[in-house]
Amino acid sequence: MIYANLTSEEIKNLNKDHLVFVFPLGAIEQHGAHLPVDTDSRIVEAIAKKTEEKAPDKIIVLPTFSFGVAGGGYSGSITVSDREFKQIVLDVCKSILAQGFKKIFLLNGHGGNQSYVEDIATDLNVDFPYAVTIPLYLSGKRGTQALKKVGFKYWIRHADEIETSLMMAIDEKSVRKDKIVDETGLLKTKDYKPLDEGTLKLFLPWEYESKSGVYGEPSKATKEAGDFLFNEAAEELLDLITQFEKITKKIEKIEAERQSNNLASAAALESLENKPALPEEKAS
Ligand SMILES: [Zn+2]
Repeated sequence: MIYANLTSEEIKNLNKDHLVFVFPLGAIEQHGAHLPVDTDSRIVEAIAKKTEEKAPDKIIVLPTFSFGVAGGGYSGSITVSDREFKQIVLDVCKSILAQGFKKIFLLNGHGGNQSYVEDIATDLNVDFPYAVTIPLYLSGKRGTQALKKVGFKYWIRHADEIETSLMMAIDEKSVRKDKIVDETGLLKTKDYKPLDEGTLKLFLPWEYESKSGVYGEPSKATKEAGDFLFNEAAEELLDLITQFEKITKKIEKIEAERQSNNLASAAALESLENKPALPEEKAS
């Protein structure tokens, strides 16, 4: 189901225990000269919707939140502060939970959001199970194998062969093929890699990392690879959602046991308190 297409009454009558909300989180950020600034948002929304098509009875897709914590320094990028990003995403999730729904899957498509998305999931789980997040799409075992299969050596970098292939699959005309350039990091050393992938982490402004705004080899992108990866990303997400449901079932069982133990110990305490007092011993 697509949340935005439903009426208020239809939403009220949904099965609140069963449904898993997928909340796509993107960004508006420069993606080199060959990809549009909403690349991250478009990819993550398309993966969410494709996954929903595979299991429309259990998945409900929220409208994409397209503003993320983006790097400045290039024209076109729009950023929100990390505090505001967290607050807005939290508010949306709490609005969903306040209606009685229980399961939210935060699907992030932008590296700069990731640590904040993890914070949001942690915050939500203090009061309300269950939110979950993944470190970007294609990051599970299935995703890793799929990337190997198409011959891509690296995981998602920026405006790279993966994002470019996916955009060719999702909306080919949005890719300016004549503008594609490869770039693999201005400051790379043995232990330092752009996007803080190495052991040495500097969290530098992106314009020091890349002249073109690209990090990767988009010239290796193909529509065939994109079609395959797009479907694999949706299959992987469906599998992750199934695992998430299994975990929530186990949590419910643990919670039920805890509550019945609490009730049993409260009852035991009450019966002790209500016991008639022992007769006082008489002094001999
Ligand atoms: Zn991106």
